Amino acid sequence: MSTKEFDLVVIGSGPGGYIAAIRAAQLGMKVACVEKMKTLGGTCLNIGCIPSKALLESSEHYQTAKEDFKEHGIDVESIKVNLDQMMNRKAELVKQLTQGIAGLFKKNKIESFFGEGSFAKKDGAHHVINVKGEKGSESIKASKVIIATGSVSAPLRGIDFDGKRIISSTEALELSEIPKHLVVVGGGVIGLELGSVWARLGSKVTVLEFSDSITPTVDKQITRELLKVLEKLGMDIRVNTECTGAKVLGKTVTVSAKDRKTEKTESIEADYVLVSTGRKPFTGGLGLENIDLKPNERGMIDIDDHFKTSVDGVWAIGDVVRGPMLAHKAEEEGVAVAEILAGQAGHVNYDAIPSVIYTWPEVASVGKTEEELKAEGVPYNKGTFPFLANGRAKAMLATQGMAKVLAHKVTDKLLGVHIIGARAGEMITEATAIIDFGGSSEDISRICHPHPTLSEALKEAALAVDKRTLNL
Ligand code: FAD
Ligand code: NAD
Repeated sequence: MSTKEFDLVVIGSGPGGYIAAIRAAQLGMKVACVEKMKTLGGTCLNIGCIPSKALLESSEHYQTAKEDFKEHGIDVESIKVNLDQMMNRKAELVKQLTQGIAGLFKKNKIESFFGEGSFAKKDGAHHVINVKGEKGSESIKASKVIIATGSVSAPLRGIDFDGKRIISSTEALELSEIPKHLVVVGGGVIGLELGSVWARLGSKVTVLEFSDSITPTVDKQITRELLKVLEKLGMDIRVNTECTGAKVLGKTVTVSAKDRKTEKTESIEADYVLVSTGRKPFTGGLGLENIDLKPNERGMIDIDDHFKTSVDGVWAIGDVVRGPMLAHKAEEEGVAVAEILAGQAGHVNYDAIPSVIYTWPEVASVGKTEEELKAEGVPYNKGTFPFLANGRAKAMLATQGMAKVLAHKVTDKLLGVHIIGARAGEMITEATAIIDFGGSSEDISRICHPHPTLSEALKEAALAVDKRTLNL
């Protein structure tokens, strides 16, 4: 049987791979996408961004109903969680969105191959990719291949995932009961988002964080606010704490922890421990040895500024390459690499990639933190504005948090924006646009913002850079 030929084969259908496939097809290429999961969409749609946001949204409604309805004048007799329905809604959303990608592939005439894709051999200028599926193997070939195989949860030395009591984010999104006590190892994005879900639903949540602060890369002033709101939610957050082991006995897991300052050790009993100490690039089973491509010492595939690997005809994007492990970063790279392959000038501005932590309230950032500016010796002015002084936030009972704007002391160029507040993730795009266009804090302060909206807090923070807030 002859090997089916394409202009481009994309391995992996996460936000990097599926977007690259669609953009390449739009630009006239004949495209195949290989995926080893049963559905398209990668980590993001199946076991990451989408299911976690579904549970965050549902648990947030429960929290609001419990805490705020009374003040809004809504009396509810009794309120309880229906975990099965919550999980079913999440599963239905994942199904709709993953099927949506299958629909987009059909519309763009992209052929999907389900199975593990691996580099088999070269056939002239073509790379032959073997796809090992449930029903057997088949081969396809193309002169251009994009590796978009993403990342997986990184295990912690000495603590093996058992998928039942010692779990990763994947299982923490699927629990069939509300844990009585959930220990979270790693106070980063996954730990705090999923810790929030289960804390809101009634679990006792203990977070063990190795570093001296949660979310160590976030602006410290914002982190201090985040710590306060999470503690108010009831989370027991212990920084400077190393998890040294975990032992499962029946339905109990005993976690050993050591205070890194006092060296004091303790054992904590829980029914689940979520290990969320980072993710690592995934290249397993790709057959990279067959094309002499070796991942670097951190497991990543090295690329040049145009996403090209050291092997002719092979490019790589998303979590498997350098940079933040974020879905929208992978998507931007997907568009850029497809445009480069089509002879256009694809480009990603890595200085303007926002990040959002979907706790309540949310944390959203773009650009440099105050600590980074200090370390780099960049002179800056700072403006902050509390949501407590924002009319819409008061009407929403969402007065926690602040917007913070950092601009160059001499030129006023916008260097960083950090927001902790309700729906901060929706507000950060404005700041991202200004940073992308090389604008200033004054640009934000001169934009007419609709009233009453939360976004007015960002405008006021920009005015505060020049010490001229109007509403404080
Ligand atoms: P992935 O989405 O990981 O996709 C890679 C795909 O390649 C997978 O489907 C995999 O099965 C497939 N694959 C791997 N090897 C092969 C092979 N040999 N053959 C065939 N297929 C293969 N990011 C955000 O920006 N916002 C969020 O809110 C957010 N929430 C998250 C929540 C959780 C719980 C997790 C775990 C992650 C979250 N992320 C979030 C991160 C985000 O999911 C990743 O950054 C993003 O999915 C990376 O996209 P990607 O295309 O590089 O890889
Ligand atoms: P992370 O890097 O965000 O956080 C890991 C945390 O674990 C850090 O605070 C680190 O100091 C801590 N840590 C490391 N080793 C430890 C140890 N031995 N004991 C205790 N703490 C330890 O990683 P994550 O939360 O696992 O998330 C992985 C990736 O997924 C991130 O890169 C993130 O970008 C992405 N993600 C993004 C979102 C989002 O954008 N909202 C949501 C979830 C995941």
